[in-house]
Amino acid sequence: MSLKYRCPSCGTSLGYEGLCWKCQMEKERQDVLAWSPEQIAQKREKLMENIKGLEDYQEPAFTDFWKLLSYLDAITPEIQKAALEAKVFYPCEIYYHAPEDVRDGLKSVLLETKDANEAANLMSCLAMQGDDQALQTLLELERNPRPWRKRLYVDPSIYAQCGGWTFDKEGHRIHLNFDTCYPMVKGTANEETPVKIGRLREDTCPHCGGKMVDIFVLDGKDERLKFLGLDGVLTATCCPNCVGFLDGPAYNRFTLDGGTEVFPSKLYDDEEEMECYMRPEDYKSMAENPFVLAKNPVPLFYGAFCEDVNTVGGFANWVQDWEYTTCPVCGKPMKYLAQIQWDTIMEGTEGTLYIEVCTDCKVVSMQHQQT
Ligand SMILES: [Zn+2]
Ligand SMILES: [Zn+2]
Ligand SMILES: [Zn+2]
Repeated sequence: MSLKYRCPSCGTSLGYEGLCWKCQMEKERQDVLAWSPEQIAQKREKLMENIKGLEDYQEPAFTDFWKLLSYLDAITPEIQKAALEAKVFYPCEIYYHAPEDVRDGLKSVLLETKDANEAANLMSCLAMQGDDQALQTLLELERNPRPWRKRLYVDPSIYAQCGGWTFDKEGHRIHLNFDTCYPMVKGTANEETPVKIGRLREDTCPHCGGKMVDIFVLDGKDERLKFLGLDGVLTATCCPNCVGFLDGPAYNRFTLDGGTEVFPSKLYDDEEEMECYMRPEDYKSMAENPFVLAKNPVPLFYGAFCEDVNTVGGFANWVQDWEYTTCPVCGKPMKYLAQIQWDTIMEGTEGTLYIEVCTDCKVVSMQHQQT
């Protein structure tokens, strides 16, 4: 395909006339953010009228739901009640922090169902609702498994994770997400930012010989990032070429003064070495990316339904299933910290890098997913 056109907004070479997909997404998002209160009310009404449409991703109800939730945080208890009444249990995010009567409704369907798929959906819905009763229900099902459990791959405590939390054997809640979210936005040249994506390093990767990169550097002392509870710098270091081909996530320890110690890693399938596909211009575009931390926080699901937004905190857009890593030092679940969409820093690449942290051990993990 010949690239004879250019995106009128960002200048990327394209094989067709019009905006590139990222500028198109950005335009759609800005349109949604400009909706008037009347327009939002209208969208809510339509969603409630066609709540069954939520189960079909090609229906307008589905995209409208995600716009209302992720960009505007505008899902109301009335919508949640309508979903429950229509027995719509997907996507589970519709029930995020739903009121108690809705929770009780979800709980009674879950406790009565004999269908494994329905049970899986309902556990996810309760995970999103997320209060102590929801926890007790999932805990009870973990301790006394129902017959449908045999047809599912994982336990209720893993389903709980999709709501950003889980529980231990004693039933104590463990938080897996931060309750604040900031996007990274395109900044002006030399703009100060407490978050830097993609800083080149001098050392090289033992698997491919390419450059190691501090893929994510964050200064927890910035006022906006106080919610992380980190009194200094967090650095996540990996080989961008190999991170998707490792046997498990990449890990490193960090010190609050900016130090980093990379843990040894193995390639998937015990491969001996890896070819380096990164060209000098790829490293360059990665290091020169324009992203800075946004001035203001956004709804928690802001980055959960689009493939062009890098976020810190909140919920990730898991390409495959959600996957919380276990800290290799203390064995406790790590907390989801940030997502980086590869294509936003290296044109034409695919997938997402998910960064998690154990603040106790000062260890980060990085894992790659793609469709
Ligand atoms: Zn563009
Ligand atoms: Zn490498
Ligand atoms: Zn730990």
